[in-house]
Amino acid sequence: MHSERSEAAGPWNGKSAAVVLSYDDGLNVHLDTVVPLLNQHDIRATFFINGTAASVAKRSDDWRIAAVNGHELGNHTMKHPCSAGLPGREWVKPEKDLDRYTTSQFSDEIAQANTILHSIDNKQRRTFAYPCGDKIVEGQSIVGVIENVAVAARGVNGGINKPGQINLYDLLAYSVYGQDAELLIQEVAKAVSNNGLLVFLFHGVGGEHGLNIDRDEHRKFIEYLASSKDELWIAPLVDVADYVVENDLVAR
Ligand SMILES: [Zn+2]
Repeated sequence: MHSERSEAAGPWNGKSAAVVLSYDDGLNVHLDTVVPLLNQHDIRATFFINGTAASVAKRSDDWRIAAVNGHELGNHTMKHPCSAGLPGREWVKPEKDLDRYTTSQFSDEIAQANTILHSIDNKQRRTFAYPCGDKIVEGQSIVGVIENVAVAARGVNGGINKPGQINLYDLLAYSVYGQDAELLIQEVAKAVSNNGLLVFLFHGVGGEHGLNIDRDEHRKFIEYLASSKDELWIAPLVDVADYVVENDLVAR
């Protein structure tokens, strides 16, 4: 059974909208809860992993299996440095303060993280997520550094990425912290009406992080996505980024 409307005309592999699910910080719950749920529904996501996450040291085989199953392991630096100088950043430790980094130090850290992820998934190409969304080192933008080592980069500013206006190295994302499934579904409806790319940014799922979604609400949302594949192209960010380039959907 095919829906003519969505399959014939959609700009995203024939679908009305593209949805990327991204999960940050290499949490255990991603391996224990999220990956099995997504696999069950034949949905693939991007997991942005900082190289010093405990799960990288202790569960690299589990990440390897996730990658073999089609999930992307994205670069999220080694130490997850964030600017301590911004409001509300009292929690940033001095050794992880991006304001104290040099550009070459930052660049080295991205390379180290790529080496570790390559040792897990044997892949050369992947996307990046700016820790805390921060993009300034030594007073200058680090976007140029990332352009050389990643296929695309996700920021933290909210919004739908619209064809022709897509900034591949600062992709807009919808951050999830406490919303229920219904609100997330409403965002997807907006993406469909805009023929856009919607990137979801999750941290905790049923716990393990202050920015969290209830486990049952997350499951309901994934079940909704699974039932909406006629209308939605749901894929890891690396695949969607390649599609954006190949189909010339970037901002000009
Ligand atoms: Zn993070």
